[in-house]
Amino acid sequence: MRMPSNKFQKGEMVMGRWPGSSLYYEVKVLSYDTDTQLYTVIYKDGTELELKDADMKRATGFRRSRSRSRSPSRRRSRSRSPARITRRSTSQTKEAPKEPRIKDVLEVRVSPLAKPLENNSNNKHDKEVNDTSSRVSEKAEVVLEKNRVGTRYNLRPRKEDPMDQLIEDLQKIVDEPLVEPEKQTVGKTTELEFGGKLGAAFMILFLPAVTFALLLMCQQKDPSLVYFPPVLPELDTLWDAQVFGIVVLWFLFQALLYMLPVGKIVEGLPLATGKRLKYRINGFYAVILSAAALGVAYYQDVDLSYIHDHLIQFAVSSMIFSSVLSVYLYVRSCWAREGELAPGGNSGNVIYDFYIGHELNPRIKSFDLKYFCELRPGLIGWIVINFSMLLAEMKFQKLDTPSPAMMLVNGFQLLYVADALWHEEAILTTMDIVHDGFGFMLAFGDLVWVPFTYSLQAFYLVKHPNALSWPWVAVIVAIKLMGYSVFRKANSEKNAFRRNPSDPKLSHARTIPTATGKSLLVSGLWGLVRHPNYLGDIIMALAWSLPCGFTHILPYFYVIYFICLLIHRETRDEKQCRKKYGSAWDEYCRQVRYRIIPGVY
Ligand code: NDP
Repeated sequence: MRMPSNKFQKGEMVMGRWPGSSLYYEVKVLSYDTDTQLYTVIYKDGTELELKDADMKRATGFRRSRSRSRSPSRRRSRSRSPARITRRSTSQTKEAPKEPRIKDVLEVRVSPLAKPLENNSNNKHDKEVNDTSSRVSEKAEVVLEKNRVGTRYNLRPRKEDPMDQLIEDLQKIVDEPLVEPEKQTVGKTTELEFGGKLGAAFMILFLPAVTFALLLMCQQKDPSLVYFPPVLPELDTLWDAQVFGIVVLWFLFQALLYMLPVGKIVEGLPLATGKRLKYRINGFYAVILSAAALGVAYYQDVDLSYIHDHLIQFAVSSMIFSSVLSVYLYVRSCWAREGELAPGGNSGNVIYDFYIGHELNPRIKSFDLKYFCELRPGLIGWIVINFSMLLAEMKFQKLDTPSPAMMLVNGFQLLYVADALWHEEAILTTMDIVHDGFGFMLAFGDLVWVPFTYSLQAFYLVKHPNALSWPWVAVIVAIKLMGYSVFRKANSEKNAFRRNPSDPKLSHARTIPTATGKSLLVSGLWGLVRHPNYLGDIIMALAWSLPCGFTHILPYFYVIYFICLLIHRETRDEKQCRKKYGSAWDEYCRQVRYRIIPGVY
């Protein structure tokens, strides 16, 4: 590469303007591109950028500040964005970088060829990243910095900012990790969960067995544990081709609703390849259309209590369906590219990877199988099963209206499912989508475990009625509402914070910065316990079981199981957060001592 003779030479130390600011730092010239007329320079912290001639000056004539150095590396030690102004810099107005004008942003073409991914990075000289996205990202960060500063000090409502749309678009780009091509793969999973290979093999047999046992126990006249194990039905009674057909049709019907071109398209978190997948958010429409279809069937005199009468066959058909799906998922994962594998399900052991899920986001064209199964056929199916139980109860107990207990269970769980689909987008940041692959664990969980074990209270009430006094109804409703408000508030606070950490509504929030650039919320419910959303969920689970009375433990299975699930999930999440956030997570744990239940756990 030829350098212009009258300008800066390769290896020369000059002053380079930091993008979007009026500050100059010492940089070393690495090369000059005659086509783009840009210099590639390296800052002292190893950041490489492309600068225009106009943004570079000879070192002579620059005075060194008497205050402490504000080299980009110094600032970067506190923040991810090289252009970010340190939050304590209001008193340093003399030297604080000016807010970039939009013109500057669009004119200063900078390219962090090797921008460190974390702020403690050293020289990344020889690491090349995607050139184009880096350039845009850098511009985006400059713009975003303006926004961060603006919202922090002016507290203007974001709506009034004409740059909002641009900022929003650029936010997406800036969130893209700058991935080194050689690292666009998922490493081998070395830390095995769920008891490793043996644990995974055990779970593959244990989960269907438990589902069976619960359903068989529940349909007994006396579901007391004294009568465990339940009498096994004849093998040939377990299979019903018509039922299997209904299960397949239901899956296809939900797939059709999923493909409807309504609802917005959003992007998921960046994958190992740096790519973001697009997801359509139309789950709530699916609930409404499914309810409408159910209503039509009901008024056409379709006997929906058929589901109750054939529940075991439905469960068996769903188990077969989810097992076939899991085998398909594993087989296709053998052809998946390295970067498409799940960080948690890439151990190399067939059973373990089959259970956890080998491929992270298996898709048939744009149809995302995991995302679809997580919230559609099983979750909405659960509500259909509940409704069938309500009709079966009226039939079996010769009631004109469903019992208050059945109405509570149906109403509470309908609210839960509707809420999940209303906030469908939130699932994109969960462990299930981001970390776990799609294998037997989620396929069985989504398509069998959720619809058939979560509907256990309604199934129980069909043959084991429980009269409720009105004051007790009021108490149960109050418990449900309390749980729901904790659950909703916690999830909404975190989602809002993750979407836009500088949201003026959260300006009062106390946070702990982390090395990744993301912060952790320490105020409100997130300052009370480390998983307030789990707490709310557990309280709600209790409210779902209370309408069944205290005669048997069976309807309390959900609460007991759910507490175990969430404790285990919390441990898994904790491990991942410690890996991600290191000492910042330890600090969070020090400040917020309890995990789920204040003062207890
Ligand atoms: P969370 O929604 O709590 O997500 C955990 C993640 O949140 C962490 O990995 C971290 O990710 C982020 N985070 C943790 N602490 C903080 C903090 N202080 N400030 C900001 N971000 C933080 O967990 P789940 O995905 O497990 O659960 C989501 C919801 O689904 C919950 O309400 C849960 O109860 C419910 N659920 C229901 C189930 C059911 O069967 N009914 C099963 C499982 C879950 P990062 O920093 O990367 O953003």
